[in-house]
Amino acid sequence: MSKSKRAVRPQTALVHGGTLRSGFGETSEAIYLTQGFVYDTAEAAEARFKGESPGFIYSRYANPTVDMFERRMCALEGAEEARAMSSGMAAVASALLCSVKAGDHVIAARALFGSCRWIVETLMPRYGIESTLVDGTDIGNWEEAVRPNTKLFFLESPTNPTLEVIDIAAVAGLANSIGAKLVVDNVFATPLQQKPLELGAHVVVYSATKHIDGQGRCLGGIVLSDKAWIDENLHDYFRHTGPSLSPFNAWTLLKGLETLPVRVRQQTESAARIADFLASQKKVARVIYPGRADHPQADIVKKQMSGGSTLICFDMKGKGEAFRLQNALDIVRISNNLGDAKSLITHPQTTTHKNLSDAAHAELGIGAGTLRLSVGLEDTDDLLEDLDRALAAA
Ligand SMILES: *Cc1c(COP(=O)(O)O)cnc(C)c1O
Repeated sequence: MSKSKRAVRPQTALVHGGTLRSGFGETSEAIYLTQGFVYDTAEAAEARFKGESPGFIYSRYANPTVDMFERRMCALEGAEEARAMSSGMAAVASALLCSVKAGDHVIAARALFGSCRWIVETLMPRYGIESTLVDGTDIGNWEEAVRPNTKLFFLESPTNPTLEVIDIAAVAGLANSIGAKLVVDNVFATPLQQKPLELGAHVVVYSATKHIDGQGRCLGGIVLSDKAWIDENLHDYFRHTGPSLSPFNAWTLLKGLETLPVRVRQQTESAARIADFLASQKKVARVIYPGRADHPQADIVKKQMSGGSTLICFDMKGKGEAFRLQNALDIVRISNNLGDAKSLITHPQTTTHKNLSDAAHAELGIGAGTLRLSVGLEDTDDLLEDLDRALAAA
């Protein structure tokens, strides 16, 4: 927000949004590394606890630095309310578990980040919450899976690692038609390239560990929605189970938000060039990149995303070729993380997705030669030369 509180564009909101300046008038956001807060009088403490006077009580509930991060994310996402969390998984688990109770049914797209899939497939049934995993790219599969007790839909788009794109507006429409909620994990798209709330989703979650930090420093997550949903579903759970974000990490993430648009723009431009280069290589069997005309859901990409992606999925012939390529890279590092300033490559079948069965790998298109490349901020020409050299060695 500007000084006059006039509405501003996202790139400006990411620099100024949510700033709470102390009496010292500091330029950069302050780190309020405190557990608690003091009250001048017993009456003031009583009023604060009754909710009759505004202010902070305890950093498990809320903290000024964390609050700045939440406000800035709300401004970017167009959400009314948010709760920042200690990791992306704390955010996903909270958003999902707060939306259902024993006896309810959840439908999720089967192409999910490994830990997200474990929550839906393994944890929820332990508490009497039924779940069905579907191929999310066909709306017919979602419709067929609906039961009288379906209360929640969950998806990630683009998906990890094969960058499938799911029609968020179509799934949101189905959820609305049966009075269920749709939670979208928007990590791969970033808050800049896809707006799930505008597409009809009820709740958006992020691992802020990825592009929002963007420089590989700290874990964080956030859940965003309207005020009514947060008040009714998340508020008490959050206060009493304590997945709270550290003020220091919130500060790091605030600094990350200031440069998010510049980084994501550069990384996406670089990724688009690299995807085209890989597609032209004989040793590369397949390239999946949202933004290329040959993406399997190119029409949905056009409809719901404003940019390509900072990630590329591509297939070498087999595991041997994929491993030799990774080992021959000089600038791109082997790591299972993504969204970093440093370019990172991983072999999902033996790392991030190693816990899935062979059948699940086949369903998801995770082959022995599949690689996921997260494009960083290095000079694109250096990255192209690095990949060119490594492909020759593979
Ligand atoms: C990384 C990631 C998560 C989990 O985030 P953490 O911060 O590592 O807990 C969840 N969903 C997606 C899509 C991710 O990429």
